[in-house]
Amino acid sequence: MKRAQKNKIGSRENGIKTTPKSDERKARFEAVVESFPNGLLGVDSHGRIELVNEELEKMFGYSRLELIGKPVEVLIPPRFRSEHVNLVKAYFLAPTAKILGGGRDLEGVRKDGSTFSVEVGLRPIVGGGTLRALAAISDITKRKKIESDLRRSNEELEHFAYVVSHDLQEPARMIASFAEMLRQDYGTAFDERGQRWLTHITDGATRMRALMNGLLSYCRVGTQELRWQSVNTDQVIKDVLDDLAMAIKESRAEVSVDKLPDVMGDQNLLRLLFQNLISNAIKFIPEGRQPLVKVEAWQDGRFFKFAVKDNGIGIEEEYFSRIFVIFQRLHGITKYPGTGLGLAICDKVVKRHLGRIWVESTPGTGSTFNFTLANKVKFE
Ligand code: ADP
Repeated sequence: MKRAQKNKIGSRENGIKTTPKSDERKARFEAVVESFPNGLLGVDSHGRIELVNEELEKMFGYSRLELIGKPVEVLIPPRFRSEHVNLVKAYFLAPTAKILGGGRDLEGVRKDGSTFSVEVGLRPIVGGGTLRALAAISDITKRKKIESDLRRSNEELEHFAYVVSHDLQEPARMIASFAEMLRQDYGTAFDERGQRWLTHITDGATRMRALMNGLLSYCRVGTQELRWQSVNTDQVIKDVLDDLAMAIKESRAEVSVDKLPDVMGDQNLLRLLFQNLISNAIKFIPEGRQPLVKVEAWQDGRFFKFAVKDNGIGIEEEYFSRIFVIFQRLHGITKYPGTGLGLAICDKVVKRHLGRIWVESTPGTGSTFNFTLANKVKFE
């Protein structure tokens, strides 16, 4: 008797009087649940379905009568069901609000057996002395498709850029070397204007080769298999400073390096990262100023934060994100030579290590390029 009454709360037939106000509130609640744009599913602490809205019926192809009282696993593909029973138990021992499916793929199964990708927002509800959970379920099939199309088209684009830059290298090399031979063997036969044009051909071909080399290494950074290992960044910096010895000497740069940690990563890519940042720190300096570069690192939870600081020309805030985009440069190549690929490569290296890179800068005073790297943890 008690149970029957409980199930019929709010109805007039069972003798419990409801005020017009509570009727109104109930109707409003039902209208909200029914018009909710996502599927809504209420389950009790044993994982049995208590509440279903119209959108959920449409999404899974069941009527609510077919679902109420059933275990929630009926909406999950059979291969995940036994694991899900344990997950429900664990959830009700430590209930929290959370989004499921953001990082990994979650699937729902329709009445006709077909499956689809879902994202689930879960919230515990305490009321009347019982614990329940409310799940908002979204069908993310379209989003997944768009994401995978985008991934595929990015891969195709990278492959295209790789093939183009690789295949154009040889003709560019030929133009550069034949123009140089022309200058050496027949240079005196040209007047001043002819000499100037010859110089333009050589410069153009040399730049084309530099751009294509940059593009090739950009593509490689994106596609090559990472060789994960513990990397001694102190040693990496020493190698980079050896490579940059000439530029350091010419600019009288002073590069100071803190004791740096070992990190997990791909040694060659990390070398490329430091090389680009330190060479930029030396390059983008006002005329007559001695470059002072500092490399530092701190531990930050599961990550290490690195910083490459300079006292160079600095960058206006409006360009802070644009400079990491491929071919974006803020100056003419005669003043500061370059291809506009260095920071795009750095961005890609850091992202492949699941870190992030950003710049802080004061124009005229200097810039700090910060990035994070995993702390001895393999993420891939
Ligand atoms: P590149 O060095 O070949 O021009 P990058 O991708 O390395 O290309 O850098 C993109 C642009 O960002 C540079 O052209 C420059 O305008 C700006 N930049 C990069 N590093 C610095 C720095 N340390 N100080 C000031 N500007 C910088």
